Amino acid sequence: MRTARIAVIGAGMGGLAAALDLSRSGFEVLLFEQAAAPGGKMREVDVGGRATDAGPTVFTMRGVFDALFDDAGSSLERELTLTRANVLARHTWRPGECLDLFADPARSETAIEAFAGAREAQGFARFVAHARRIYSTLEKSFIQAARPSPLDLIRRVGLKGLGDLWDIQPFASLWQATGGYFRDPRLQQLFGRYATYCGSSPFLAPATLMLVAHVEQAGVWYIHGGMHRLAVAMSGLAQRHGAVLRYGAAVTQILVHHGRVSGVEIDGKERIAVDAIVCNADSNALAAGLFGASAARSSPGTPPAWRSLSAVTWNLSAKTAGFDLAHHSVFFSADYRAEFDDIYRRRRLPTSPTIYVCAQDRIDAGGVDPEQAERLFCLVNAPAIGDTHLFDTAEIAQCEARVFGQLEKSGLSIHRRSSPVTSTPSNFHRLFPATGGALYGQASHGWQASFRRAGSRSALPGLYLAGGSSHPGPGVPMAATSGRLAAACIIADRASIARFRPVAMPGGT
Ligand SMILES: Cc1cc2nc3c(=O)[nH]c(=O)nc-3n(C[C@H](O)[C@H](O)[C@H](O)COP(=O)(O)OP(=O)(O)OC[C@H]3O[C@@H](n4cnc5c(N)ncnc54)[C@H](O)[C@@H]3O)c2cc1C
Repeated sequence: MRTARIAVIGAGMGGLAAALDLSRSGFEVLLFEQAAAPGGKMREVDVGGRATDAGPTVFTMRGVFDALFDDAGSSLERELTLTRANVLARHTWRPGECLDLFADPARSETAIEAFAGAREAQGFARFVAHARRIYSTLEKSFIQAARPSPLDLIRRVGLKGLGDLWDIQPFASLWQATGGYFRDPRLQQLFGRYATYCGSSPFLAPATLMLVAHVEQAGVWYIHGGMHRLAVAMSGLAQRHGAVLRYGAAVTQILVHHGRVSGVEIDGKERIAVDAIVCNADSNALAAGLFGASAARSSPGTPPAWRSLSAVTWNLSAKTAGFDLAHHSVFFSADYRAEFDDIYRRRRLPTSPTIYVCAQDRIDAGGVDPEQAERLFCLVNAPAIGDTHLFDTAEIAQCEARVFGQLEKSGLSIHRRSSPVTSTPSNFHRLFPATGGALYGQASHGWQASFRRAGSRSALPGLYLAGGSSHPGPGVPMAATSGRLAAACIIADRASIARFRPVAMPGGT
């Protein structure tokens, strides 16, 4: 009897997690990735002869990966070396204004008291408790559920949880909500920034996104060798379970027969019959017809106005002086509202952006030799218009001058030892087709946004969705969770087909 064959399109977090769960469950898994390496957004680039992370840098919710690796007969620790961060991030405003947040909330509270006074420290304690409550209300009822509607959510939390649901202020913006905890505008800005972890504006995202603050408080980890190692470890483990991973192989069509997925076409020529497909490309790529007309009907697509943030990023090797960087450092703009008005209203690069700097070689705030060049990754948020606007060399050079000038004014001198590798919304649009460069699927703007994301099962039988553009949304652990949800749906659906059709199935049915 034949084992069901599943194609996975894309080796991002969602695709790799699905490939791992499906291969260890006995399915024949063929993964096709158009890039030369696994990871998708978790990619690395070469600067000065050293591989450097050019995607996610903050690794949270490690429990998601502990479970994924354990279920696959290994462990995160066996595959990777991890160190827990003591300093979550270093934040700065005007020169000399610096605040660290720590893994230990009591230490953060003391630091906030010294920085902004006792009232703000109390606000922080209330904020942390509330963020924790939001997370525990939504963890099982929403994040780990296969695409709940508002009604499902209410049903899941039950009568007892209704008060908690109301308490999480779904109709207030994150900005309004943080204003209830902090009077100091710098702290409102710091905690409002968590909206950007989902590619959203703090002025438009719901207060629910306070849960991101809890996720960070629950633990941030450094992956030795860089985040990209995680993708490499996942792909290696999937291969050990028999998955076949093909790089430099773009899926150009999803084949449909009698209204059901029947195969994939690779690079416009090779056709392979499959029983089901997990699509890890942005769900907008389906709607845009990049996988053919039949597959296009399976996804409604995202209007450009709903897209999440894009970015302009620079990877470089440099010596630094004047400002003691932590692994994660944030240099805030003077006017946060103006920054998001530039991005979401005027649809242009912000004139005065908040700048994130990852000093990848540092553990917390140390571990580098000041005489040696270190690897840096700098990022500013940008509008996702990479499909309609060409971010040309002149515009990016101007932006670069602004960003590095702003860092210099904040006290950070960067002496380059390599020319930077720059990515723009146009590059991201090419790497992640049909997105305009949006890096987090649909923006989480308004309380309904989370319910608008595609679920694991698409409208086309046999086609399943995984990745940051589908439920439960963007971010490394969430995208991996979506892959696991898609795999679980396939396993359940194949088992139910087997019940009606007595054929041998993986898992021994
Ligand atoms: C600069 C940056 C910083 C970030 N920072 C963080 C952070 O600090 N922490 C965090 O948790 N998250 C962060 N994120 C978000 C996080 O990286 C993503 O949400 C997550 O990695 C997305 O995974 P995914 O499953 O959606 O797959 P993706 O990474 O989107 O990968 C999809 C894959 O599908 C492939 N593909 C598409 N079409 C085809 C096709 N036709 N044929 C074959 N292959 C195809 C693509 O090449 C790609 O490899 C960041 C993202 C970026 C870009």
